[in-house]
Amino acid sequence: MTTTRTPTTNPTTPRATKAIDTVLPAPPPHWVGDGFPVRSMFSVHRHGAAGLSPFLMLDLAGPHDFEPDATGASRGVDEHPHRGFETVTILYQGELEHRDSAGGHGRLGPGDVQWMTAAAGIVHEEKHSAAFTKSGGTLEMVQLWVNLPRRDKGVAPRYQDIAAGDIPSVELPDSAGSLRVIAGEYNGARGAASTFTPMDVWDAELNSGASVSLTLPEGHTAIVLVLRGAASVGDAELEAPQGVVLTREGASFVVEAGPEGALVLVLSGEPIDEPVFAHGPFVLSGPEEIGTAINDYREGRMGRLA
Ligand code: MN
Repeated sequence: MTTTRTPTTNPTTPRATKAIDTVLPAPPPHWVGDGFPVRSMFSVHRHGAAGLSPFLMLDLAGPHDFEPDATGASRGVDEHPHRGFETVTILYQGELEHRDSAGGHGRLGPGDVQWMTAAAGIVHEEKHSAAFTKSGGTLEMVQLWVNLPRRDKGVAPRYQDIAAGDIPSVELPDSAGSLRVIAGEYNGARGAASTFTPMDVWDAELNSGASVSLTLPEGHTAIVLVLRGAASVGDAELEAPQGVVLTREGASFVVEAGPEGALVLVLSGEPIDEPVFAHGPFVLSGPEEIGTAINDYREGRMGRLA
């Protein structure tokens, strides 16, 4: 007996709507240093590099309440290196301070974003600010790792310290809420960060029951995370902290917030079709380069904190 199947997709005309590729459930939290109780919402180690590219990993920290601590020792992560990629820190609540081997230092408050290009290599520490350590309070943040194409892995490190006030915020149609364009573009509003490869990084605060249709470039990786509240993304019902990887085919999808509203992070980027070797704080193009990075760090060639 033969069965005739009607193709569900026509290869010459892309689907208009993105579908769910993978649901990203909330993993149990673990501590990074003594300051960051994080859930790794996705990572190349669990989900493979190809489907996430150019994104590598996303840690969601908190919301977590810290008690006041008057000892003066800030909680966080001590001196450590990075090479070959970028770290993007989006702070929602709390206050952070960072310091690096190039003499750079800075502070992030609620709504601020630090887009750090580690590239050739940097050594830094990431801590709660002294004031936040002393006062205690709620910490809520995201750290996203973005890969660099091989040609840019050796460029000089740099920071883009982006204050909340410098991030374009767009009112969504039908009073659905607002959307911040951290990178990329939304409806003509250009993102605050400059990037090495084309990508969109948006966060959207959706009001109770609000619905919005979003469109991303066909062929780009697309990941949507519900950081707070609950929302449906396409036909996936998500409760924070959960997310989905959408199909690269298709362009548009609908997000509908639950009764408490939702904070939703949208990541989209052109895949970098190159091998990914991720080892701890190094993301490079081959095993030899990982070995070189380990030696360079050990021997001080990425610098040291003063
Ligand atoms: Mn770091």
